[in-house]
Amino acid sequence: RAKRQSKGGFAFFEPAMETEARARHELARDLKAAIGTSQLLLHYQPQFAVATGEILGFEALLRWNHPLRGPISPAQFIPIAEETGLILPVGEWVLRAACEEAARWEKPLGIAVNLSIAQFKQEGLPAVVMEAIRDARLDPSRLEIEVTESLLLQNTSRAQDLLLTLKREGVRVAIDDFGTGYSSLLTLQSFPFDRIKIDRSFVGQIGVTPKGAAIVQAIIALGSSLGMPVIAEGIETEEQLAFLRKYDCAEIQGYLCGRPQPIVEYRTLTDADFAFHSRRRA
Ligand code: C2E
Ligand code: MG
Ligand code: MG
Ligand code: MG
Repeated sequence: RAKRQSKGGFAFFEPAMETEARARHELARDLKAAIGTSQLLLHYQPQFAVATGEILGFEALLRWNHPLRGPISPAQFIPIAEETGLILPVGEWVLRAACEEAARWEKPLGIAVNLSIAQFKQEGLPAVVMEAIRDARLDPSRLEIEVTESLLLQNTSRAQDLLLTLKREGVRVAIDDFGTGYSSLLTLQSFPFDRIKIDRSFVGQIGVTPKGAAIVQAIIALGSSLGMPVIAEGIETEEQLAFLRKYDCAEIQGYLCGRPQPIVEYRTLTDADFAFHSRRRA
């Protein structure tokens, strides 16, 4: 709510805050109208095995083409979707669309979908996920749910129960943006993740600061001793790739080997494979 300040009995609103609130309100209204239309779509970013260059799967990333404002970043509209509860229908649409897309692929590659904390507050989240999988006729082991560590901090036992239910059904669970929260290590101890995604803020420091590189190296070693494969996000340079290969990082994802794009851009899935192979040879 707008901030009130009393001055001689008057209350007034700060104009900047009111404008901000109105902008958010308008975006929420427009997002609601966008659900079920072609304004919302998924881009797909490939993930590769470092050792072989083989494509392992794709992460689905939500895009919103606003009819007047053009493309709006998920970093901007996901928080609004979370606050307004719109993340529930939007998130369910993402799950269904991603599962349907993956079910059409020739190769049984993985499909990773980001889930918000708000979706875990919903009754019956596992049922929503399993229904999307069943309706798409997708093998559950091909779906990977990406969650951030704040999920397990906020409502530890309930969130863990929901994730464990999904795991029992065969769905995989990855921890996203690893290392950016304040109790990352505790989170790793408390849940059997199938994969750790090193946040790209660390990857971006490879070759820039020795400390950043040391952290990446330590996370790879940690994952290896916990038996959790590590995927590095946000690889943009050959130098980063060489570093990750040297320290046995299992998997990578980033602009260097494939941007998030409409899936048709990867026409046959081996195109993405090839793009990465040709880069390695170059
Ligand atoms: P994320 O899950 O950590 O996704 C990775 C982000 O890094 C994506 O940003 C991706 O486009 C970007 N990225 C990938 N490779 C590179 C690279 O080499 N360099 C740089 N600079 N960036 C790279 P995007 O697509 O803008 O998404 C931002 C965040 O929005 C995601 O972070 C995720 O937290 C959230 N998000 C996206 N789609 C969904 C969704 O369907 N549901 C939910 N709940 N959140 C979503
Ligand atoms: Mg993610
Ligand atoms: Mg991430
Ligand atoms: Mg993120």
